[in-house]
Amino acid sequence: MAGAAVAASLAQCGWLVEVLDTAPALGAGASGLPVGLAAPHVSPDDNVFSRITRLGVQATTHRASRLTDAGLMTSADWGLTGIFEHRVKGKRALPSTNALPHDEDHRSSRASHAQLEACGFSTEVPALWHSQAGWLCPRPFVAAQLATPGITLRLGCAVHRVSRSDGQWHAWDAGGQLLTQTPQLVLASAFETQALLQTLVASDAGPSVHLPLNTLRGQVSFGALDHLSEATRSVLPPFPVNGHGSFISGVAAPNDSAAHWFVGSTFERDCSQAPVRTEDHADNQTRVNTLLPHLAQGMARGFSPSHIQGWAGLRCTLPDRLPAVGALDPARWPGLLVCTGMGARGISLSVLCGELIAAELEGYALPLPPELAKHLAARRYTQTISRNRHN
Ligand SMILES: Cc1cc2nc3c(=O)[nH]c(=O)nc-3n(C[C@H](O)[C@H](O)[C@H](O)COP(=O)(O)OP(=O)(O)OC[C@H]3O[C@@H](n4cnc5c(N)ncnc54)[C@H](O)[C@@H]3O)c2cc1C
Repeated sequence: MAGAAVAASLAQCGWLVEVLDTAPALGAGASGLPVGLAAPHVSPDDNVFSRITRLGVQATTHRASRLTDAGLMTSADWGLTGIFEHRVKGKRALPSTNALPHDEDHRSSRASHAQLEACGFSTEVPALWHSQAGWLCPRPFVAAQLATPGITLRLGCAVHRVSRSDGQWHAWDAGGQLLTQTPQLVLASAFETQALLQTLVASDAGPSVHLPLNTLRGQVSFGALDHLSEATRSVLPPFPVNGHGSFISGVAAPNDSAAHWFVGSTFERDCSQAPVRTEDHADNQTRVNTLLPHLAQGMARGFSPSHIQGWAGLRCTLPDRLPAVGALDPARWPGLLVCTGMGARGISLSVLCGELIAAELEGYALPLPPELAKHLAARRYTQTISRNRHN
């Protein structure tokens, strides 16, 4: 998603973009997620993370709308349905309205009685309604963005090493063959971004650069709606529910166009592999029982071994939960940018990050206020290193 978002943002500005990906098909990494949420984050003080995420969700839904208008996505790929957020244990309070910009305060509000009822709750249960939010399937979103004129996609193209000479960036494969050369290179390869930066450090013998990228494994459990009883199907919420994991229904599975339900997701640190595990289905079942207690009994049938399916992937995270975007060290590496560390929110953040890179390269106005953009700047890591060196 990060690579596709950057490519689409640049191609829209008239750039010719070549996208190189190791995988033989789209959606190989975390972006192979069957479906996820474009969901804002709220906090009582409307903190940096909330403000960035809200702008990110707007950028994503705006792009998905445009791609739909262009016939590149359909209502089977995403839906601006609104999201119900069950404030499990009172988490995630709304800011007071005067903490929000005027045009934002209607986007997230207390859930209505009808919305609470649709989720099987009484009117006292704390819950929010995010009107400008929804679900999205990453693969068709990636494919649609990569269909932007000006983009050439090269799948099965693993970059082993990058180097720079004569004002050009070079990408090499493991056999030492030159894959491409370009004046501007964006590394948007999740964890591999660090390994590729290391090849560069090794070649120019300068100080090391360390993006503290970590893995956070996650598993989604899903099943066909047809496998649930009619009584359970009749009480499923008609919109996605978030707050303690998430619940989405009525969306096709990766290889099955029938309507499915999806419950996610687990969180597990320090994993290098992402197999689907039975115990993680059990975790997700517990999650949905807390999120939507009225479904607990009915969903048990969906979680039975004969019906349950799963998908697992590795999120690529940074310690402050925000991506690293843009130039790392323009004096040392002119024309080299990164876009990585989307964490658990690539759907919500990748387009905003793509727009930020396009603004940086084109000299356009930033897509978010500078005081927020600085929290996304990849340079925050290289600057820390040089400060530490200086001290
Ligand atoms: C279980 C789970 C649930 C999630 N739910 C949500 C959700 O509800 N909402 C949300 O916003 N986000 C969600 N996410 C997070 C989201 O999926 C990620 O943030 C996003 O997919 C990351 O995109 P990316 O492009 O940065 O990384 P990836 O999708 O991992 O892509 C990296 C790409 O780089 C390529 N690559 C790597 N190395 C090289 C190389 N050397 N040469 C060439 N190509 C290379 C890979 O092949 C891959 O295609 C979820 C993630 C998981 C695992």
